[in-house]
Amino acid sequence: MNDRWLRREFEGWGRYRRAVSLAAAPVRADELPGLLQEASAGSTIAFGAGRSYGDSALNDGRRTLETAALDRARSFDRERGIFACEAGISLAQILDVIVPDGWFLPVTPGTRFPTIGGCLAADVHGKNHHVAGSLARHVRSFDLLLADGATVTCSRDENPDLFAATAGGIGLTGIITRVELQLQPIENTFMFARHIRTGSLAETMEMLAIHDEEWPYTVAWLDSTAGGGALGRGEVILGRHAALADLPVSKRARRLRRPEPAKFAMPVTPPVSLVTPATIRAFNEIYYRRGGPEPDRAGLESAYRYFYPLDAAAGWNRCYGPRGFVQYQFVVPEDAAEATVREMLRACQSEGHPSALTVLKRFGDGEGWLSFPAAGWTLALDIPVRPGLLPLLDRFDRQVADSGGRVYLAKDARLAAETFREMYPDYPRWLAVKRRVDPECRFSSDQSRRLRIDDDVRAG
Ligand SMILES: Cc1cc2nc3c(=O)[nH]c(=O)nc-3n(C[C@H](O)[C@H](O)[C@H](O)COP(=O)(O)OP(=O)(O)OC[C@H]3O[C@@H](n4cnc5c(N)ncnc54)[C@H](O)[C@@H]3O)c2cc1C
Repeated sequence: MNDRWLRREFEGWGRYRRAVSLAAAPVRADELPGLLQEASAGSTIAFGAGRSYGDSALNDGRRTLETAALDRARSFDRERGIFACEAGISLAQILDVIVPDGWFLPVTPGTRFPTIGGCLAADVHGKNHHVAGSLARHVRSFDLLLADGATVTCSRDENPDLFAATAGGIGLTGIITRVELQLQPIENTFMFARHIRTGSLAETMEMLAIHDEEWPYTVAWLDSTAGGGALGRGEVILGRHAALADLPVSKRARRLRRPEPAKFAMPVTPPVSLVTPATIRAFNEIYYRRGGPEPDRAGLESAYRYFYPLDAAAGWNRCYGPRGFVQYQFVVPEDAAEATVREMLRACQSEGHPSALTVLKRFGDGEGWLSFPAAGWTLALDIPVRPGLLPLLDRFDRQVADSGGRVYLAKDARLAAETFREMYPDYPRWLAVKRRVDPECRFSSDQSRRLRIDDDVRAG
């Protein structure tokens, strides 16, 4: 064994899936082709910041290429907001560079710790998906290291099929080494946000649908423990980047602030989960009432608290104890949405698997292939792993697939191979590209083997 490859344990963010593999952590992008060569014909996968919840970045008993040290900014056109960087740079590091010049990420997930390469491989979406689409829409080009050791540039015009297969392609087409992004301008790092408390699922969905036109960022938090007529009650959170004129004079002096470090850290994994039906009930009740007597409030908030509330507590995933949790996120078309969401919330309650954190959002049109977002409604449920959960999620999968929907691969830890094929109708187009650029499956993961993607590639 070459000493650049060290045995290491990896886990998905849900801590339900783990893997031990030989890992190398290059510090320069030009080391990557050599490392890939050393891995010879064996399977390798890129590991960014490990913020995917399941086994997309895991490769048990095989090889892992860690990209987080490939974190350099390459160029920044401050006039036009065009930023190029290595793929292992985190969103937090990008914000550090771009915010002082009045630019922000065009699309951001609910944490600033993932790498930009990992975000492109998952084609992440944010609260502005209904107006801005997913990340790929804002990527001008990227470089991709292929299985044969060649690096190619991909854009909408250059290698467009590799562009489409890699955005959302969950690391299986190659290693992204450079990304060029079109940023969006901001006048300050504050959001003008409105929080509307709702009393039922119908009201939550109606509020989101009504306000989608007017607000660029829309999302709802649901109280997963409320039942009866209050099922699906929650808080609709609307936002837009604040204009300079929205700021009081006291905030104008430091109007472009960098993100602050986490305020709290969970240093160890407790021997049992702190997230139980009782604590979930208490947390949801407190959160639902957090606005006090005012059911509709608006005002200025820090952009970082608005976009990344969970980042305030480092290592919060450890609260779920040694068994971890699964994030189940799906999207279904408009006509199936209310019934599907209602039924799932009810089933989680009645079968003793309450979701600790539940988020609902209406998507705009999707980009296709293996990218997750599609027109309709998406629900994300964070559910502790306990006996009986997996059969329940299998039933949810059936319902989602029958409604023409899909689950998000970057969150997935347990989807069945056949159901994956039903959910992703563009998979054959993606597979044709994968067979062309990686016929021996040098890039594969625990997830790709579980979904039997590798079998399909080799059978081609
Ligand atoms: C608190 C939290 C909130 C989140 N909110 C959202 C959200 O709102 N919207 C959303 O879409 N997602 C969200 N996510 C999911 C997260 O954004 C994605 O899973 C993202 O892929 C994580 O990036 P990473 O760098 O951690 O990648 P990893 O988890 O390390 O890897 C994810 C995938 O990307 C591949 N990959 C990583 N780097 C590269 C590379 N350089 N080249 C090729 N492939 C690569 C891996 O092989 C793997 O398949 C959230 C996650 C957390 C923990």
